[in-house]
Amino acid sequence: MAGMGVRGRRVAEERDLASLERIGAHSHICGLGVDEARSALSDIPFISQGLVGQQEARKAASVVVKMVRAGMIGGRAVLLAGPPGSGKTALAMGMAQALGDSTPFVKLSASEIFSNEISKTEALSQSLRRAIGVKIREETEIIEGEVVEIQIDRPLAGGVAHLGSSGKLTLKTTEMETIYDLGEKMVNALAKEKVSSGDVIAIDKGTGKVSKRGRSFARSRDYDAIGASTKFVHCPDGELQKKKEVQHVVSLHEIDVINSRQQGFLALFAGDTGEIKKEVREQIDSKVSEWIEEGKAEIVPGVLFIDEVHMLDIECFSFINRAIEGDLAPLLIMATNRGIAQIRGTNFRSPHGIPLDLLDRLLIIMTKPYSEKEMREILTLRCVEEDIAIADAAMDLLTKIAEEASLRYAMYLLTTSALTCAKRRAEKVDVEDVKRCYSIFLDVKRSTHFLHEYQKEYLF
Ligand code: ATP
Repeated sequence: MAGMGVRGRRVAEERDLASLERIGAHSHICGLGVDEARSALSDIPFISQGLVGQQEARKAASVVVKMVRAGMIGGRAVLLAGPPGSGKTALAMGMAQALGDSTPFVKLSASEIFSNEISKTEALSQSLRRAIGVKIREETEIIEGEVVEIQIDRPLAGGVAHLGSSGKLTLKTTEMETIYDLGEKMVNALAKEKVSSGDVIAIDKGTGKVSKRGRSFARSRDYDAIGASTKFVHCPDGELQKKKEVQHVVSLHEIDVINSRQQGFLALFAGDTGEIKKEVREQIDSKVSEWIEEGKAEIVPGVLFIDEVHMLDIECFSFINRAIEGDLAPLLIMATNRGIAQIRGTNFRSPHGIPLDLLDRLLIIMTKPYSEKEMREILTLRCVEEDIAIADAAMDLLTKIAEEASLRYAMYLLTTSALTCAKRRAEKVDVEDVKRCYSIFLDVKRSTHFLHEYQKEYLF
């Protein structure tokens, strides 16, 4: 249904406003590119759903997705380990998308949990609960005179007979589009009112009377309500009966905040929700369980992605150990680009700076450095995504830069080169655009070299 797509996109946008830039960087990814019916590693295409290469990692990720669907992930989490820029975040996003359009995806950088306002474990609790969606369903009868926007596949000027031969009406609200066959009574009513494509109408439930309304009338009503979808049922007597099914997807964290007496829902907008009491969370959990039993709600388990997980300390790790056991835990995906490192808060060193007891519960997926061909394909995908036309020679140069500096740096150069290209009103990014940007933006290697050279000019 068209409207579901719109809603899905909306949720995707809302679920991770904080990391808008990073989401933009991964906007070319729309799944894992693994065909579930063909599970052999050799069947995984080199490029699919925006993901390039990393077939072993994609295969492993798709197995995790299957485990989540089968409810077999409890007590476990995923660790993506690999060098910087090797697609760990990309893979986590692919997993969330493979789990479904409306899967909440919350991205957190481990260092974000160290704040003065709330404790580390509270920050982790809030993030975990943000990644659990609750789909709340309500069905109500039509509200008299409620407004829908209608679009008719041909003008009604020809009257009943004309429309009757097609008999199709597309009703469109901001959330959905329904096409259905019209009953004669309704056709007459629409024709009498000279309703045509794009008009806003009100339908009186009692009498079936149709009246045309202005757009401001539509705007003045609860017409834009998030998640509202409207079902039309065609009755034998030709009268339209409308049932309104309202579906809100909210996160458990949002329900916590709204119900927390100290916070109130305005805190959601301020982003400063403070600590939430344990009792509030317990009450919410039992209320949500009740709704589920009554068929009023459904849990939409999401993904919590914690990047730079080596930045967490021992207290956080033991919290995570317990949290992943919970009935309502989302899929926890952690990522690190560190090898053997110190476990923060201890004097011990361990692989990825993660305690061994937690490591033992993780499904570890490795991402490998990219080949030249893979980098070129990823850059090409970004060109399509950012709508950039590029000359072959410029792409050769960018690929070389990606190999020698980093893929991410080459991606930044691509975006900035497109700007210089636009400035000189050319149609294609050229070698000169890339060279120009390369000379004004330093990559890490050159920046380090520069630092060594001018060290004494800097403050210590
Ligand atoms: P870091 O360790 O620095 O956090 P990372 O491993 O999370 O890095 P990403 O941020 O996922 O790396 O990748 C860098 C960029 O390259 C992103 O824009 C990402 O979408 C893109 N990318 C990485 N791998 C792939 C891939 N296999 N297919 C398509 N795009 C990819």
